[in-house]
Amino acid sequence: MTIHFAGKEASLTLGRSYCDICLRPSPLIAKIPLFSYIFMRGRCKLCNKLKLPIYFFSELSSLLLFITILCVIEGHSFSQLVFLYAIALFLIGLSIFDILTRRLPDIATLPFLLLGLCLSFWLQNIDFQDSVFGAIGGGLITGIVAETYNKMRGKVGIGWGDVKLISAFGAWIGWQALPLFLFLSSISGILFIFLRSVAIKQFNAKEQIPFGPFLCASGWFLLLQTFN
Ligand SMILES: [Zn+2]
Repeated sequence: MTIHFAGKEASLTLGRSYCDICLRPSPLIAKIPLFSYIFMRGRCKLCNKLKLPIYFFSELSSLLLFITILCVIEGHSFSQLVFLYAIALFLIGLSIFDILTRRLPDIATLPFLLLGLCLSFWLQNIDFQDSVFGAIGGGLITGIVAETYNKMRGKVGIGWGDVKLISAFGAWIGWQALPLFLFLSSISGILFIFLRSVAIKQFNAKEQIPFGPFLCASGWFLLLQTFN
């Protein structure tokens, strides 16, 4: 079984990775992050089919997020920086999972919420009380909005996975940063829909986009702010 995490093809067996189109074992060159995609022009060396650019972008964001951590290195311990990078990789993996499957599984969001409650004081000096209020406030507000929208329109606007992820970020960044977090996530999502419809010259009001990547990007930005 091959899983994709943070843009790297990782096999659950003995570390072999496979082409996700022809399912043949990837050659060594295909395992070099970023460069393999550029050298092979996004194609699989074996079947010559175009590979999903999502993995290239995930590798690129792994690198970019690593650089953002280098900017906030001062005054923090090595273990804090390693943990922060682990969060970055987790968020990239979660975003990809949401894009590919339109799901934010409980197995990922709930431990992230629990870790936020337990570790935000250690990582970013967020008061435990602020963290608890952030988790409850974020979950409650968006939960009510999701339920109301669902009842009024008879369809899902904000998924329950999104609600749990918002609650988790509330625990990580504290209740004070919640309004800005929700604002940034919504505005970046709306901006993406607008730019995309301009690019493809087509607008579909009913089209749903995965909200997870926008939550992860805005949450990461605010997490770095509180980390400083
Ligand atoms: Zn292939």
